[in-house]
This record gives sequence, structure tokens and C-alpha cells, in this order.
Amino acid sequence: MEKKIAHFTIDNKECTATTGVSIINAARENGIFIPTLCHYEGVKPAGSCRVCTVKVNKRHLTACTTPVAEGMEIEVDTAELNDLRSSVIELLFTEGNHYCPACEKSGNCELQALAYRFGIMAPRFPYQFNERDVDASHPKIYHDHNRCILCKRCIRIIKDEKDLPAGSQGRSIFAFNQRAKKVKIKLDDRLGKELSDELAQKAMDICPVGSILVKETGFKTPIGQRKFDKEAISLDNSINLKAMKEAHHE
Ligand code: SF4
Repeated sequence: MEKKIAHFTIDNKECTATTGVSIINAARENGIFIPTLCHYEGVKPAGSCRVCTVKVNKRHLTACTTPVAEGMEIEVDTAELNDLRSSVIELLFTEGNHYCPACEKSGNCELQALAYRFGIMAPRFPYQFNERDVDASHPKIYHDHNRCILCKRCIRIIKDEKDLPAGSQGRSIFAFNQRAKKVKIKLDDRLGKELSDELAQKAMDICPVGSILVKETGFKTPIGQRKFDKEAISLDNSINLKAMKEAHHE
């Protein structure tokens, strides 16, 4: 079936994309960066972080879960929306315990990179100092719950696909445990034991913060020479765009 092309505007710029593509991807195809923390190209969107909130015909919607359609008037880069995104990022800093200078992911962390992009010096909200633990019981990874932003990337992406027929959906190795304020990410007791080195590394790489870290490696790339140490997070260097290119073997 022939793909239908939608004509729409983003911040008054005329754009086109295949109808049904998410606004976040349609924007990227048109050279426009919409920040996000939970979205990951090629994976079903969760809409959990709300950082990609845009206005569509004056209504607030998440760009990762909203498909683009003919005639949409989309606002992305406005003072109101950037303040909203900044407040979400600030809340994440106050809700978790983020000690950037001591974090192995510093310079490769998307939360930190977005904070720099939005010029956040200190959150406008009070720190909550929630008690969180560090789980070092797994032989391959540390799980630092202080830094987890509950984006669900690990749940949606790290799957056990061993011995499955091609094309079938693997089982999630990570899952939510407990509820409300106590909710945290946990490794499946059985599947977690079989976590391969490759999947452990992938889990660390897709985690937008430093919550999942591979054991026995550290500072392979010195601080100051990491991805976001060199340039601000943008359309060109976001992990999602890299993933998109890899998925399409570009
Ligand atoms: S561990 Fe990382 S990838 Fe998983 S939910 Fe927390 S922040 Fe997201």
C-alpha cells in the first residue's frame, strides 16, 4: 500500500513525513530536535518522561506517542514548552539523588546533558533526599536506584531472546517492582542470572542516566572526552539518532 504523506508545520516551518510516524521522529526527519529521556528509536514509546511534550493545535501532547497527521500545527521550541521541559528535568534531579561528579555516566548521561542544554544551575524545587539503595548483588551489573528516572527503557529494550523463533517477542529481563513511591527496577530472578556480557553492556548504554553500570570497567573514556563533554545534546549526537542510524544500517 502506498504510504500517505502528511503536510504539517513545526514552529511555522513547513514539514512533511509519512502519516502515522510519531511527531518526535517526523521532527527528526525534518531536522528538528525534540528532547526526550524515555524514547528510544525502534522501541514502542512509553510517554513516561513527558520531556518531549509539544503543543499540537494548541493542545499539550507527548511527541513520542502522537502520530503526525495532515494539517497539524505543532509548537516545539517556545518559551512555555522549554520551561515545562526544564521543570520536568529539575523535578527528576530533586526526586532522585544525582551526584554527577562521582557518576561513571557523567558526560554520557542524557539527563545531565539536557540539564546543560536548558541551562539549569540549580533546581527550583526542594530536594527530596529519598532513600534509595544500590544493588551490587548481580555478578555483572550495579544497579544504582538513586539515579533511576523510571523511564522504562531497560524494561522495553533488554529482552531475553535466546532460543526464540525469529520474530517473536522476548521476555523482559528488567521489571518494575513495588508501587508508588517505592517503585523500583528489578532484574528478573531467573532471567537476570543469564544476563550476557553483551546485554549487560547494552543495558548500561541504553539507560539514559547512570543507574545501570557494568562491573569491573570504569572510566574507559576519560571525563572531559565523552560524548556530551564535547558538544551539547542535539539532533546530531543524541543516542536516539545513533540508534536510528544503526537500526537502518546507515
Ligand atoms: S534503570 Fe535506567 S533505563 Fe531502567 S528505568 Fe531506570 S533510568 Fe530507565
